Amino acid sequence: PSEFSGKHVTVAGLGVSGVPAAKVLHGLGAHVTVVNDGADERARTQAAELEALGVTVRLGDGTASDSGSAAGLPEGTELIVTAPGWKPTKPLFTAAEQAGVPVWGDVELAWRLRGHGGRKAAPWLAVTGTNGKTTTVQMLASILAAAGLRTAAVGNIGVSLLDAVTGDTEYDVLAVELSSYQLHWAPSLRAHSAVVLNLAADHLDWHGSMEAYAADKGRVYEGNQVACVYNAADRATEDLVRAADVEEGCRAVGFTLGTPGPSQLGVVEGLLVDRAFVEDRHKNAQELAEVSDVNPPAPHNIANALAAAALARAYGVPAAAVRDGLRAFTPDAHRIAHVADVDGVAYVDDSKATNTHAAEASLAAYEPIVWIAGGLAKGATFDELVAGAAKRLRGAVLIGADRALIREALARHAPEVPVVDLDRTDTGAMPQAVREARRLAEPGDTVLLAPACASMDMFTNYNKRGDAFAEAVRELGA
Ligand code: ADP
Repeated sequence: PSEFSGKHVTVAGLGVSGVPAAKVLHGLGAHVTVVNDGADERARTQAAELEALGVTVRLGDGTASDSGSAAGLPEGTELIVTAPGWKPTKPLFTAAEQAGVPVWGDVELAWRLRGHGGRKAAPWLAVTGTNGKTTTVQMLASILAAAGLRTAAVGNIGVSLLDAVTGDTEYDVLAVELSSYQLHWAPSLRAHSAVVLNLAADHLDWHGSMEAYAADKGRVYEGNQVACVYNAADRATEDLVRAADVEEGCRAVGFTLGTPGPSQLGVVEGLLVDRAFVEDRHKNAQELAEVSDVNPPAPHNIANALAAAALARAYGVPAAAVRDGLRAFTPDAHRIAHVADVDGVAYVDDSKATNTHAAEASLAAYEPIVWIAGGLAKGATFDELVAGAAKRLRGAVLIGADRALIREALARHAPEVPVVDLDRTDTGAMPQAVREARRLAEPGDTVLLAPACASMDMFTNYNKRGDAFAEAVRELGA
């Protein structure tokens, strides 16, 4: 019998994390009740599937007065396992706190289930940050695989954490992507080594403040055993390392695109070099790879490669595997993906630029740009982004719910730049935006979809938004 058998567990939220969590807990003998806010078709299908197994499901209508979660803490609840996106201010959590009931996220559950059923408990190399997480865990998994290790990139894309921990495949080590929400709900997670890639304002509506967001990101360093990797160009990440309580002997490793100082990985004359782990023995930096081994070799992506290399080195993989792993890596869709050239104009899909910090990276990579932007701002401001990109802009086409915020920033910092404000948030806005962008663009320009906003006002997710863009570009060419 497991520690869960006979235990009354409430799973908060159906969906990508809730359904597998409910199944695993049910399989371990827990009495599971799932509470969910809405009752749309997807929720009803998932509920029926779980009910057939013997799991209790409470659906709400999505309003605060009558929702599965607002209806209160189910009788006898001893533990809540929540979907990461649920805000800590929800009434369910207030009730749990009053009743002294612990709340875990999907990551906490997976962490506690490591080694379960006699499996090998693979250590976690953890990656968080505002941008670059998915890319970095994929680079890291590629490097670990090149070293002959059984591994997977776990998180947003690919294998889910719960599957990696409870499934049939055994791993030596996991490259784990963690969001700030997931870290918030993972109090006992202790990674082998971890990195915060960068820290910029994002999801502030959820966390409440920049300080709270940073503190949740910083949890990734708590209890690290071997290395806390940080971005030497981003002081906030270094401050998080300083604030963390780590295991004795755990090292701080800064990565930098400048010349490396002591205990840093860095880029020197096109080489990725590593001082952190060889300095004591050889005094000299060791060559890990060449910048041209990184795909694409843009500065923000070299930073991701350095972070992946530092974590892999902390785990002890040989330098040659870093180079081989980076060479074997190809970026995922919707991340600065070249879609097509039409009439001498390049069309680039960076739909994954869902916040201003990410959009800044792709806006810095092209010139002149016709910029397609807008969507859900999530509490962000656009002045800094627009002021920094103003000189590179040929024009801008704005779509989505919060486009007025970007229009106002453009009026303040780039008054000369022509702006087309599409007053629509339906999916048909994308083909119209692409046609407007074509009108503004001249041969040699780049039409760049880098929305700096989330997509959910118009699309199911950023993938669908990027697909709609690519489809519209293909129609131009046809
Ligand atoms: P995440 O998983 O953190 O969302 P991704 O690897 O999916 O990160 O990349 C998200 C977006 O951020 C992409 O649009 C990319 O252009 C941009 N990006 C990737 N790495 C970085 C970085 N290190 N700094 C700034 N922007 C980045």
